Amino acid sequence: MTDISDLTLAKLRDALKEKKISAAEATDDYLSRLEAASELNAVITLTADKARDMAKASDARLAKGEGGALEGAPLGIKDLFCTKGVLTTAGSHILDGFTPRYESTVTSNLWRDGAVMLGKLNMDEFAMGSSNETSFYGPVVNPWRREGDKTPLTPGGSSGGSAASVAGHLCAAATATDTGGSIRQPASLTATVGVKPTYGRCSRWGIVAFASSLDQAGPIARDTRDAAIMLKSMAGHDPKDSTSIDRPVPDYEAALGQSVKGLRIGVPKEYRLDGMPAEIEMLWRQGISWMKDAGCEIVDISLPLTKYALPVYYIVAPAEASSNLARYDGVKFGHRAKDFDDITSMYENSRAEGFGDEVKRRILIGTYVLSAGYYDAYYLRAQKVRKKIFDEFTRAYEKVDLILTPSAPSAAFGLGEKTADPVQMYLNDVFTVTANLAGLPGASVPAGLDAQGLPLGLQLLARPFDEETMFKGMYALEQAAGFTARPDEWWA
Ligand code: GLN
Repeated sequence: MTDISDLTLAKLRDALKEKKISAAEATDDYLSRLEAASELNAVITLTADKARDMAKASDARLAKGEGGALEGAPLGIKDLFCTKGVLTTAGSHILDGFTPRYESTVTSNLWRDGAVMLGKLNMDEFAMGSSNETSFYGPVVNPWRREGDKTPLTPGGSSGGSAASVAGHLCAAATATDTGGSIRQPASLTATVGVKPTYGRCSRWGIVAFASSLDQAGPIARDTRDAAIMLKSMAGHDPKDSTSIDRPVPDYEAALGQSVKGLRIGVPKEYRLDGMPAEIEMLWRQGISWMKDAGCEIVDISLPLTKYALPVYYIVAPAEASSNLARYDGVKFGHRAKDFDDITSMYENSRAEGFGDEVKRRILIGTYVLSAGYYDAYYLRAQKVRKKIFDEFTRAYEKVDLILTPSAPSAAFGLGEKTADPVQMYLNDVFTVTANLAGLPGASVPAGLDAQGLPLGLQLLARPFDEETMFKGMYALEQAAGFTARPDEWWA
């Protein structure tokens, strides 16, 4: 038989149902793979005992012919999701020792469907970053390396632990979150499939907040089918999150393989950047011709406001972050400074010690753009441009059903390569932030390798709540790309 870790989530699900494998076996297999992969630094907290207990309960249900859609499937959970009784750090020192007394809605949904939690995955601090290097727990290392070169590369961020552990087959699939690209960019850099659903599709309740009007949860998985299975479980209305939308969750898996004939695919000329590697441009053209061959109609479109997306994002996101992060003051939970004279210096010292440099930078920017005198010039103006970006997409979707772009402007880069210049780092989100600003669903699908043997992804964007069409398109891309490459397991 093939190794358990070679099975996709879909195949593992079937093998578990048919009792060819037990949940306990699958869980032990993944736990040992995770333990052997410490060089990747993908995990903050391994929950081996909990995983074995959950697997045992799954096996009992499976034995009775019962069990949910993910019964016995071992998953990794980004450490931004609150998990009851299990340390939840958001990759930050300031959340030291924080063990939530509640479970996030998304993870509750996964456990309701029978999934098993292997552990909490590493990530950029408070999900702020594109390379996982802002994590208090150190960077995650990408399982992929340049051919003949041992330089450690970033798996992307902020969901770097999720992407690396899915790419390295250290879990069957993982949860992730995307505020400006943190699902799609790491998926692109690790040859995994990442889906950011429409804003409101998944509940944000119990997910540590970064920028509440942009944050969305979604899966990182090995292929489109696995992502569809994961999203179906994760999504759904939640009365505890007033921004979650009360709409039925479709069976995304059923959309796979449906014909894409006649679908209109928009190709926005503004996503063709100066200085973008020629290979990315070529892959994009390749993707366009794959969709054309599958019977789609290709439509050139223009989204001229794209150039404002990054500046708008880097006003709105830090503004919301500065407000959300005001709650970390060392009083009720998390890190508290040892040295202080009074309550004010306790706040100040706890925050100064607890937050890393990138988080401090965001708090400073956010506080500045919200301050009296600057609010109108920055925050309010950014909100207005944000609305115009949304309107621009709405007009585009009168002419097209999906939009096809590269997922990221580069392949995986070396750890330390972009840390000196935050703007260089921010530029990595140039293709992904637009979907967050407009609340649209977006996905990255592995499409090819560059000359150095590193994966590159293509992004599909869809209309709000039209993830089904997006999944149809993703599946068509995936079929055409026939991507099967895997990284050598140099870490094991
Ligand atoms: N890289 C972007 C940032 O640093 C997006 C992060 C995210 O989507 N969580 O803000």
